[in-house]
Amino acid sequence: MANLDHLLAQELADISSAGLRRVLRPARKGTGTVFQEPGHSFLNFASNDYLGLASHPAVIESALNAVQQWGAGSGASRLISGSLQIHHDLEDAISAWKGTESSLTFSSGFATALGVIPALVGTGDTVILDKRVHACCVDAARLSGATLRIFRHNDLDSLESILTWANRRRSRNGKDRILIVTESVFSMDGDQAPLAAIIQLKERYGAWLMLDEAHASGLFGVNRSGLARATESQSRIEIQMGTLGKALGSAGGYVAGSRTLVEYLTHKARSFLFSTAPVPAASGAALAGLSILQSQEGARRCERTWEWARMVASHTQPHRPPSSAILPVILGTEERALEASSTLRESGIYVPAIRFPTVSRGSARLRITLNANHTSEQINCLIQALVPILRPTA
Ligand SMILES: *Cc1c(COP(=O)(O)O)cnc(C)c1O
Repeated sequence: MANLDHLLAQELADISSAGLRRVLRPARKGTGTVFQEPGHSFLNFASNDYLGLASHPAVIESALNAVQQWGAGSGASRLISGSLQIHHDLEDAISAWKGTESSLTFSSGFATALGVIPALVGTGDTVILDKRVHACCVDAARLSGATLRIFRHNDLDSLESILTWANRRRSRNGKDRILIVTESVFSMDGDQAPLAAIIQLKERYGAWLMLDEAHASGLFGVNRSGLARATESQSRIEIQMGTLGKALGSAGGYVAGSRTLVEYLTHKARSFLFSTAPVPAASGAALAGLSILQSQEGARRCERTWEWARMVASHTQPHRPPSSAILPVILGTEERALEASSTLRESGIYVPAIRFPTVSRGSARLRITLNANHTSEQINCLIQALVPILRPTA
C-alpha cells in the first residue's frame, strides 16, 4: 500500500497544475476594511462582515463581558450542562428578529444544516436543492439518506417538474416528506431566489421549504432580518436558517421556526445534541450585533453597504442594480480569475478569486463584498483598479 503522504502529494500536484492550489495566508486582521498580512496591507473586499459589526466596539465589549460572566468555554453540550442563560437570551432575540415562535443556535451555520436536514428527512423522503446552494446543505442532504434532486438555479419549471415527480413517488411509497432547500441570497452570485413563487409551488405540492438567509440577513427588511420577513413570508416558510458569522459579526448558526420544530430538533439534531454548546463570547457578540442591526445605527450601516454596492455595481454590472452586497465578476477560467485577483493585489486591493469547487467549472470569478465601514475613497480605489479588468479583451 502506497504511503499516505505520497498519495496525497500526487493529488495535490494535480490540483496545482489545474490552477486550483489554495494557500492559507496568515492575516493579522481579516475583518474591517483593511486586510493585513505580515508586511502588507490591502483594502479588504472579501469579508462577509457586511455591516462592519465584527470590529464594532459594542460587539467586542459584549463578547468580552460574556467571557467574564460565563467563562471561555461552555463546558458541555446544551443538553448536559452547557445551556447557559446567554444562549437562551440569544435565541429569544433571534426569534423576535425573525418573527418566528422559536429558534435554536448551533456552533456554526454548517453545523446547523448538518443537524437540521437529517433530522427532518431520511430514506424514502426527497430533498430538492437549488443547484447553487451552499456545500453545507448539499452535505446535509446526502447525510440524511433521502433521495436527492437538484433543480436548475432559480428555475421554477425545473423545480416544478421535480416536485411533480416527487409527489407521484410519495403516493406510491406512502412517505410524505418533500423538502425544498434554497438560499434567499446566493453566496457566490449575490442573486435572489424567486421566493414568492417557490412558496406557492411548495404549498401546491405539499412540500416543506428550508430557506438559508446567510447572505440576506442584515440587508433586507425593516429590521434587516432577511428576505423572508421583508416579503412577509416568514410564517409560510417551515424552516429558516442562517449564520451569526456574517452580518452579525460573530460566529455560530441558527434555525428559526415553530416551537414544535425547535423542540423536535432539540431531540434530533445530532450536531446540536453531540457538540459542545457555542462559546459564550460568540453568543454575547451575536446578541450585541443583533441589537445594533435593528437600531437606527443598523439602518444607517445597511444603507451605506447598499450605497457602496450600487456604486460598484454600476461598473461591474452596468445594466443591473445590485441584488445584495455580493458582486461577482465572472471571468471564466481559473487563470483569468487568479490573474485579476493578483492584479488587484498589486494595487493594494484584496478581492479573492473564487474557483472550482466553490463555483462550477468555467465560472471562476472575482467575488467583491462591500461593507458599511468602507469609505468612499476606498470604493473609488476599487473602481479605478477594476477598470482594466472589466475592459473587454480584444
Ligand atoms: C457561510 C454560509 C453558511 C455556513 O455558515 P458558517 O456559520 O460560516 O458555518 C451556510 N450557508 C450559506 C449560504 C453560507 O454562505
